[in-house]
Amino acid sequence: MIDLLIKNCCILLNNNLLQVNIMVSEGKVTCFSKKICEADKVYDAEGKIAIPGGIDPHVHFRDPSSNPAENFETGTLAAAHGGVTTIADMPNTEPPVTDAKILRDKLKKVRNKAHIDFMLLGGVGKTTVENIKEMAEAGVGAVKTFMISRFPGLSAPDTSSLKEIMLEIKKYQVPLMVHAEDEGAIVKLKKESRNKFSDYAKERIMCESIGVARVLEIARQTRCPVHIVHLSSSDSMDIISMYRKLWPKITVETTPHYLTLTMDEMDKQGPYAKVGPPLRNKFDNRRLVEELTKGNINFVASDHAPYPKEMKDKGYEEITLAPSGMPGIETTLPILFTLYSNREITLETLIKVFSTNAAKFLRIYPKKGCLLPGSDADIVLIDPKSEFKVTEEYLLTKTKQSMFLGKKFKGEIQATFCRGELIIEKGTPLSKPGHGTFLKRFP
Ligand SMILES: [Zn+2]
Repeated sequence: MIDLLIKNCCILLNNNLLQVNIMVSEGKVTCFSKKICEADKVYDAEGKIAIPGGIDPHVHFRDPSSNPAENFETGTLAAAHGGVTTIADMPNTEPPVTDAKILRDKLKKVRNKAHIDFMLLGGVGKTTVENIKEMAEAGVGAVKTFMISRFPGLSAPDTSSLKEIMLEIKKYQVPLMVHAEDEGAIVKLKKESRNKFSDYAKERIMCESIGVARVLEIARQTRCPVHIVHLSSSDSMDIISMYRKLWPKITVETTPHYLTLTMDEMDKQGPYAKVGPPLRNKFDNRRLVEELTKGNINFVASDHAPYPKEMKDKGYEEITLAPSGMPGIETTLPILFTLYSNREITLETLIKVFSTNAAKFLRIYPKKGCLLPGSDADIVLIDPKSEFKVTEEYLLTKTKQSMFLGKKFKGEIQATFCRGELIIEKGTPLSKPGHGTFLKRFP
């Protein structure tokens, strides 16, 4: 007997959308069939496109921490609402995850809150290099470091620390994720010389390219696989393309905001459009979309990073006082689906950059990241004909301060299943916290 039958949905097979029925047993896809068979539960998905659940390797769910803007329960539910069925949570929680004991303590605190499956990321700074081994053994998906000094315990702004980290981490087959903005390259304008909020974005324009070049040069010298998080600019992409000829083990992610928004948004939304690196120009948006298609950007992550309103509002007085970041996990898929509907990317590219490639990066493929017999039944159903507007009521994330409020997208998410369990349907939560399980990186 089959546990669940998702009938009449369309899946992508050899670049064609085919109508099939998906059979699920014990949380796994068992087969696809033209015929309908008996099942305990039947879900009618007529007219919907089914894709593998999203994998988001870059979220900040703020748990445990004193930042009340999100927690594991609200974050994982918002993720399911956005068609994401596995996340990897960043280590800048409190205390920062810089050793295996802190990792285990964090796991204890969050595991009963998760609606979807999750991984944890380790963090490393100049003083915690020796802990990489134990974090790798504890199953972290990757280890993150920051070239900016904003996060105590997690930053390695100088060349010798970065080199030391790379020489150590390369022994353990765990990728190093780097926030590559060079702190020293920030040309600080005087407050009085800023006429508009977007002048802040211009101040930091070179900061990423210089950071990327430094990281990649050290990666080339040390032969260390390296991952550049939230790539924002065409200039940085040029540097990556050049370095890949010298050292191929470089992976890259970008985010939905760098694909679609420009720094003009800062003049409209003030500190609520402040992200790090800052938003760029239309030229950069177009280039990054092209590089998704070419396969040079491996995946799209949300960098979901909410802050309380009081903290963001400080930026109205002085933009540098507002933290960088905003919620985004619920809008990644609608944004990618809109690019697909507008023929800017193919559905094949969408599935790769939203799910498959990130699953490979975190080494949880083919359990995750694909719809194949034997894979986890993490399935998202999209209504391809629908159009909707992002409103505060639409969002399930705790703070509603998305940069995409008021914007319209195509492809509303009808339902999200995680290991065969219906987590959410049209924005209505149906699962209980604790369904999500902790995943380790496959050795
Ligand atoms: Zn981040």
